[in-house]
Amino acid sequence: MPRVDARPAPQQLAAAYRRVRAAGHADEPAVLVHDLDRLRTKLADLTLAFTAPRALHTVAIKANPLLNLLRVVVAAGFGLEAASIEEVHLALRAGCSPDRIVFDSPAKTVPELAEALHLGLRINADNFAELERIAALHTPASRSRIGLRINPELAEAALALTSVGHRGSRFGVPLSQRPAILDAFARHRFLSGLHVHIGSQGTTIPELVDGVARVWQLRRELSATRHDPIDMFDLGGGLPAQYRDDAPRLTPAAYAAALRAAIPELFQTDILLVTEFGRSLLADCGFVVSRVEVVKPGPVAVLHVGADLFVRRVYRPNEWHHDFLALDPDGHPIAGDPVATTLAGPLCFGGDLLARDLPLPALAPGDHVLIRDTGAYTLSMWSRYCSRAIPIALGLDGDAVTVLRPRDTIADVVAFWGG
Ligand SMILES: *Cc1c(COP(=O)(O)O)cnc(C)c1O
Repeated sequence: MPRVDARPAPQQLAAAYRRVRAAGHADEPAVLVHDLDRLRTKLADLTLAFTAPRALHTVAIKANPLLNLLRVVVAAGFGLEAASIEEVHLALRAGCSPDRIVFDSPAKTVPELAEALHLGLRINADNFAELERIAALHTPASRSRIGLRINPELAEAALALTSVGHRGSRFGVPLSQRPAILDAFARHRFLSGLHVHIGSQGTTIPELVDGVARVWQLRRELSATRHDPIDMFDLGGGLPAQYRDDAPRLTPAAYAAALRAAIPELFQTDILLVTEFGRSLLADCGFVVSRVEVVKPGPVAVLHVGADLFVRRVYRPNEWHHDFLALDPDGHPIAGDPVATTLAGPLCFGGDLLARDLPLPALAPGDHVLIRDTGAYTLSMWSRYCSRAIPIALGLDGDAVTVLRPRDTIADVVAFWGG
C-alpha cells in the first residue's frame, strides 16, 4: 500500500517551517524547504507500484537539480534522467553510475553524443538525424544502450505549454512514420529500446496509458520482425501533481494499476522497464516561505520571491496554481477574516505578482507567506532578472534541518554576470 496518499496538511507545513526557524534560519528573507523524508517515502511508493522483473526508476533532474536532493534520490536506488549534457554531469556528481543515467536532450550535439557513448549512458535518440549521428559514432565496445523516442500522437493537449506527446509535437519520431521507424530498427542493430514521454500537468491517466499502449503496440510489431531484442521500454514521466485540494490525486499506484490492466505484458516481460518521473514525485515535497517585507495600500504585500522563482505562475497564473498560507512572525497560521490581498514579488516591474485579490487574513510586515507545492519546476526555473540572490535551500531530514544549498552571496551573483 502507498504510504503517502494525501497532500501535506497546512498545519504540518506551518510546523515544518517553525522547525526551520528553530534550526537557526529565522532571519532568512525567504527559504526553500524540501521534505527529504517525504521524498524517500514517495520514491519507495513508486518502486512498489511499478514492480517489474527488471526496472530502472529515474528522477527527471530538470524538475529539481539541487545536488544534495539528487544525492538522496541516488541513495534511494534511483537513477537520473538528464535533459542536457550539463545535467548528465550533475548526475555523475550526485554519484549516479553512468548506466543509470538516461540522456534525453532534444538537441544533442555530436560531441555530446560522443561523450555519452564514451561514458556508457543510456541514450534516447529524439529523431532520425540524431540516430544517424549515433550510428556514425557507435562502436560494438560501447556499453551505452540506445532507445528511440516515439511521439504517440495523442489527439490534443490540455496544457499546450508542457505537452510533448501530441500530434504535431516536435519531440520524438511521430508514430505515424511507422515504415521509417521499422526501417531504422532494421538497419541499426544497436537500437534496443523504445521511449515515450507525454508531459505533465493537464494529462490524465487514461491519456498517459493510451500513449504508452500505442508505443507498446509498436514494440509488438518490431519484435515480430526483428532478430535483435528490444529489451528496454522507457515510459517517461508525466504524471500530474496535485496543486489543489479539489483536484484529483493521481498516484503512481493508480497509474501503474491502469497500465497493468491495459498492458499486462509491460510488467511481465523480461525487459528493462524505465520510468522518468519528476513533477509528481517532487512537487509536494517542497514549499517556500517568504517574509512579508512591506504592505502597501490595496493591500499589496511585498514578498522576497516573485517572477524570479515562479516564472510560469507570474506569466500564466491561471495555468500554474499554488496555494498560499498566511503565517505570523513565529510561523503560526494567522486566523482572521479574509481580505482581498495582492501578493507582489520583489522585481522591478508591475506584473511581478504571485496572486491578485487573494482572500487571506490581513498581513503585516514581518508576517510570512507559505507557498505550497514548490518541490518541482520552481528553483530549476530560477530567473536572474534583477540579480537577486537565490534563497537558501533547506532539507528536512529526520530530526535535522540541513542546508542543501546556501543562499547566494553577493559575490556569487557578481560572478554569474562575469565579475
Ligand atoms: C521533463 C521530462 C520528464 C519528467 O516529466 P514530469 O512531468 O516531471 O514527470 C521525463 N522525461 C522526459 C523526456 C522529460 O522531458
